[in-house]
Amino acid sequence: SQEQFFQSQKMEAIGQLTGGVAHDFNNILAAVCGSIEIALRRLRKGDDAVPFLNNAMQGARRGATLTSRLLSFARKQELEIAPVDLPGSVRETVELLSSTIGPNIALEMCFARRVPPVMADRAQFELALTNLIVNARDAMPAGGSIQLEIGCPEMEDDGQQYVRVQVIDHGEGMDADTIARATEPFFTTKGVGKGTGLGLSMVQGMAEQCGGRLVIESTPGEGTTASIWLLTAQSPALAQPEEDTPETEGAS
Ligand code: ADP
Repeated sequence: SQEQFFQSQKMEAIGQLTGGVAHDFNNILAAVCGSIEIALRRLRKGDDAVPFLNNAMQGARRGATLTSRLLSFARKQELEIAPVDLPGSVRETVELLSSTIGPNIALEMCFARRVPPVMADRAQFELALTNLIVNARDAMPAGGSIQLEIGCPEMEDDGQQYVRVQVIDHGEGMDADTIARATEPFFTTKGVGKGTGLGLSMVQGMAEQCGGRLVIESTPGEGTTASIWLLTAQSPALAQPEEDTPETEGAS
């Protein structure tokens, strides 16, 4: 549609712009950090300029983190798409996150019994899942539980078989306007320095590059369900002349 066309034009322009700006900005920030470090070394420990310099350093580092995110967003690296063991991948992500997600957040997993391998880039999928979990946590500042569900393979109208991975929270939710704009690059309702607005656009990009999609459902005051649909490795769309992929867990 025309809307999609403008959206992709916009993404393209943003990609080119951010790539160039982020690169130069990264160099500038490296010089700023270096100078602050030298200044800190020359000052005595108790000098009252130290806290100000530490603040400046923290700000510059935050800027560097943001620009490196922008860079990897702009690069749109080629995905390495291969059969992924979804339950294993989700479990691993949860293990990695459980120490940093916060003490008042519970991550609950509920997987269908037999989940065939899906076509995805495992590292990018795990990044996407991390983005969704962080969003779910941010929506529940008082804490709560996040459900991670993997469904049985389902045949869609296009004749392809997909597996759905859901991240469900019981947080503040989104109104219709926010849902409509949520996957737009740089759209964020989080404060300055907190959100980049790139999380969901990355998740959507990852899903679509893998032949799947991202669906967001949300009710204000009740919570949000983000679903990533991924093609099973046996989908007819994927011409795979080699051997059949086994239906058991553990392929990756
Ligand atoms: P960021 O997290 O940096 O703001 P995202 O692209 O991940 O960027 O999200 C964009 C916006 O969508 C968020 O600022 C928030 O308003 C909304 N959003 C995303 N996930 C959720 C969620 N689970 N619950 C409520 N709002 C959400």
